[in-house]
Order: sequence, then C-alpha cells, then structure tokens
Amino acid sequence: MSQDLVLYNTLTRKKEVFEPLTPPFVGMYVCGPTVYSDVHLGNCRTFVSFDLIYRYLKHSGYKVRYVRNITDAGHLEGDRDEGDDKFSKKARLEQLEPMEIVQRYTIGFHDMMRLFNTLPPDIEPTATGHISEQIEMIKEIIANGYAYEVNRSVYFDVEKYSQSHNYTILTNRQMEDLLANTRDLGGQDEKKGRLDFALWIKAKPEHIMRWPSPWGVGFPGWHIECSAMSSKYLGQTFDIHGGGMDLAATHHTNEIAQSEACSHTQPVKYWMHTNMLTVNGTRMSKSAGNGFLPGELFTGNHPLLTRGYSPMTVRFFMLQAHYRSTLDFSNEALEASDKGFKRLMNAYKLLEKLPPSETSDVDISGLKQRCYDAMNDDFNSPVLIAELFEAARIINSVYDLKSSISESDLKELKKLMSDFVINVLGLHEEQAPTDDIGKLMDFIINLRLEAKNNKDYVTSDKIRIGLSDLGILLKDSKEGTTWNKA
Ligand code: AMP
Ligand code: ZN
Repeated sequence: MSQDLVLYNTLTRKKEVFEPLTPPFVGMYVCGPTVYSDVHLGNCRTFVSFDLIYRYLKHSGYKVRYVRNITDAGHLEGDRDEGDDKFSKKARLEQLEPMEIVQRYTIGFHDMMRLFNTLPPDIEPTATGHISEQIEMIKEIIANGYAYEVNRSVYFDVEKYSQSHNYTILTNRQMEDLLANTRDLGGQDEKKGRLDFALWIKAKPEHIMRWPSPWGVGFPGWHIECSAMSSKYLGQTFDIHGGGMDLAATHHTNEIAQSEACSHTQPVKYWMHTNMLTVNGTRMSKSAGNGFLPGELFTGNHPLLTRGYSPMTVRFFMLQAHYRSTLDFSNEALEASDKGFKRLMNAYKLLEKLPPSETSDVDISGLKQRCYDAMNDDFNSPVLIAELFEAARIINSVYDLKSSISESDLKELKKLMSDFVINVLGLHEEQAPTDDIGKLMDFIINLRLEAKNNKDYVTSDKIRIGLSDLGILLKDSKEGTTWNKA
C-alpha cells in the first residue's frame, strides 16, 4: 500500500483517494445475478470487472470481505413493480419448481465464473435465505414514517423521503425529470406517489414463491434484498458497493433511500459502476434478446461469430477495456485479443528460459512503477496491459540475445509478471480443449493397438507406462480400451 489508490466514486462524481473506513479491512458488496435464466456475456463483464478490483485490493494488502448476492426471489419484470414474477413464469413454462430454476441457473452461473477464473466471493447470500432480515428492515422503515401499507403490500414513500433527503443523490437527476418520465398512476394503482416503490408485495393466488409477513402472505421487493444483506454482512456503512451502471438510477438509488430511512446512515462510502458490454452499440440484455451466452462464444455457435474463443481470450478481451468504458463486441476485437493473450502468455513461459547477464540494459523498476501507476489510477487495466506488452517485448529481446538482464532484474521481472498477469489480471494458460484431448487419446490408443496386433509388446507397454506416468490410466476390456485421469 505504498502509493495512493484512486478510484472513481459515482456518489461524488469524481476520482478520490481510497481510504477504507477501518483499514486494512474493506467491505465490498456487488449486486449478483438474477438466476431465472443463463447469465449472458454482459453480466459476466460486470463480474469480471469486480473480480479485477477484488484481486487488486487484495494484492495491495487489504483484507477484503467480498459479498455478492444471488437474486432468487421477488423480482418482477417491470422496473416499477409490475408484470409477472420472472421465477414463477419460467417455472410455469418449464413445469418446474421455482427452486429448481434457481438451482439450475445458480450452478450455471458458478460454472461460468470458474471458467472466467473469477475468485469466489467470501459470502454469497441469497434473497430467499434472508426474508426475515428484509421484513425487519421494512418494519423499521414503516416505524420511521417512510413507508406505508396498502391492501397488504408495503410501499416506500419517496415524496416524504425527498422532503428531508436528496433522493437522487447518486445520479444527480432532477425530481421533476423523474416524475415527467414516469407514467401517471391512473385510478387503479394503490401507490400514493408515482415514484414510490414496493418493499413488500401481496402475493396473488398464482404466485408460487411466497412468505408470511406482518402484512400477510407475499414476497419482498427487489431493492430491499440488497439493503438487508449488505448491512447484515458488512454493517450499516461499508466501503464499496458495485454493480452495472444500469442499476444506479433505480436499484441503487432505492437502496440508499431504504438504508437512510431505516438507520439514518449513508450506507456506502464509494459507489462503483461498470459500463456496459454492447453489440453494435446496443446494450446486451436479456430483454433485448441480443445476449450471447458465454458457451456460444466458446464454441463459436452463434450467427454473429466467425469462430469460437477460449474463456481466457474473452477475459483478456474484457480487461483490455477500462471498466468504466463501454466495450463493443466484435469478431475483429476478439481476434486481436486472442493474439494479444497468446503473445503475453508465450512471454510468460519464456521467462524461465532467459539467460541472466552481469549487467542490465532494460529498466525493470521503471516498468514495475508504471504497472502500479496504471492500477492505482482507478484500476486502469488497458494501460496495465500495454505495460505488460512492453514487458513481453523485453522478454523476447533478452531471449533473442538483443538485450541483457541482470540476475536481480530477472527476479524482479518474474515477480512482476506473476503478480500482474496471473494474480491481478487473473489470466492463466489454457489446456487444449477436452475434445481435442479426446481425439489425441483415440489416436494414441489406436497406435498401442497396432503395436499389440504386431506383437510389438515393448512399444505397447511403453505407451501404457508413459501415459500412466502422466496420470492417464488405460483400461482394457472386451469392448475396447478406455482411459481416465488418475
Ligand atoms: P441481472 O442478472 O440482470 O440482475 O444483472 C447482473 C449484473 O450484470 C448487474 O450488475 C447488471 O448491471 C450487469 N449487466 C447487465 N447487462 C450488462 C451489460 N450489457 N454489460 C455489463 N453489465 C451488465
Ligand atoms: Zn442489488
């Protein structure tokens, strides 16, 4: 933690020196996925961006408690508490229990996160596991006079709150503009004010996910889950709250209002928002139907793709843009990232083969300084990657005996590459895809069979023992030979 880390705070709309509330501890909450369908590549971009931030905070010596929730309840289709519950709708369509939907897509999400080599959060709470905490918080907000009950639902009173608080503190929008953009309530709506949002919603008979509460059987509004879970695990005020930019105007604005109305505190010191992954300039989203599934990207099985790209190439592609810039998907950009990623990893492998000299004509400490400067400037991964390409150029030049490097500089360069490429950027070398390994194994097993048929037992044993030394065991049976990893 020798230099100042500076980050952009959405709340103050400027870059600030990062000063945790109780150093070296850092509490970080990130809004997680809504698990009623597969995560698309846009969602993954946000989680990869926060993975970079988490990794760098840890690398800088902070003890981070990273909480990322799973939204598995109470999320209606419209932003303003209308439409169907997405889980119930999907469950009806697929004739499953809502919790089967939740389980299926949570597992899929974890698989994706592992493929992208993101570190798991320290706590991963679910909304359905924290209903009582949400109810307690709603009770407190009602007691403080900022929410009201109508017909067994509870709404947050935005007008009342705005009389004493700045409701749009996060986005700095004008209340008049907000009201102008919200449709009239009409006679049907039970809310008092147009901007009011639900804290608890009375369950209709067909609503499957439902819980008892002081107001009757129902389910929580979306925003209250994050307020309840973040304060439970990180306290009433904590350091960092993150999510995609699309969440700032409604979800995070309402989170701030709920926490202020409940415990009279600003819940978060630094709000951080990641920018969107776009396709031809349009935000990738589930509702727009322009979402790529990561699996489609890996296999190339999508009309917009010319071929498949590996998870590490896609991770590298994401990190080549700053988290606050938009990133537009294109085959050309992915092709360039593929080359860049391979160049970096080849240089990383070459490190072990570099011959140290008496003297150095390369500047490793300057390079190291520039890598830290990049990351300390609001986690600027594209500038960091440009510096690491410079490291790759040095490595290749020393390998070709065009430059020389001293023993101590070489040690420093190895540490720099392992710190930044492996630990901070979270990249790793990739194995050949399993179906390629399968084809390779078929080829080797056939060679062994040929040797056996020719009574060349020396060769067939050599193949079997050689594979066993590599941890691959062959099993012969009447049906043929199969293999598995020891
Ligand atoms: P959701 O599952 O829709 O609640 O989204 C999970 C996370 O992904 C949220 O933090 C969103 O802000 C984020 N997100 C959604 N769409 C995109 C996108 N196109 N690019 C980057 N992040 C996104
Ligand atoms: Zn949230």
